[in-house]
Amino acid sequence: MRLLEEILYHNNQFVTEKRYKEYSTTKYPNKKMVILTCMDTRLLELLPKALNVGNGDVKIVKNAGALVMHPFGSIMRSLLVAVYQLQAQEILVIGHHDCGMSGIVAEDVIENMMQRGVKSETLEMLCYSGINVTEWLTGFEKVTESVAHSVEMIKKHPLLPKDVPVHGLVINPETGKLDVVKEGYDLSAVFFSGTGSIPPG
Ligand SMILES: [Zn+2]
Repeated sequence: MRLLEEILYHNNQFVTEKRYKEYSTTKYPNKKMVILTCMDTRLLELLPKALNVGNGDVKIVKNAGALVMHPFGSIMRSLLVAVYQLQAQEILVIGHHDCGMSGIVAEDVIENMMQRGVKSETLEMLCYSGINVTEWLTGFEKVTESVAHSVEMIKKHPLLPKDVPVHGLVINPETGKLDVVKEGYDLSAVFFSGTGSIPPG
């Protein structure tokens, strides 16, 4: 059986046997939070267990590296929707050690792209169009710094309510241990520091 057939075969049994019943919940998170984390396979079950969250408890947004690349990209939009429409009251950014996006070498990715049929003319055309593919593919060196950066991007977003704590954490992908990089309850830091923040009152 090919992968999709395998999935559909299982799915048929899952639905027929009503195994979905134990997962019944609503779209609103019981624990009133949204988590941005990495798509790493090791975190699929480990992260929810390590945080004591289950189906229905939280919103989870995932991408490669738990990165907020752009203030008006899809990640930030998801976080804002979670806050404004889905009752999330706190945001957790959870990066992890040994992340595939740390130390990723853009040139290697491009090399692989070319081996898989992407033409150098295509890359040149993108370059002429102002798209820096190398920069776009570049990850980060230190996970604590990338988490701190994502937290800042979120906290300083002009559309995020200023009373939403944004926490930054790093999880160990083997043990599930969490380390706090940024604790978000000190909201005064948002009001009084840095450029681009909204002054109080
Ligand atoms: Zn990762």
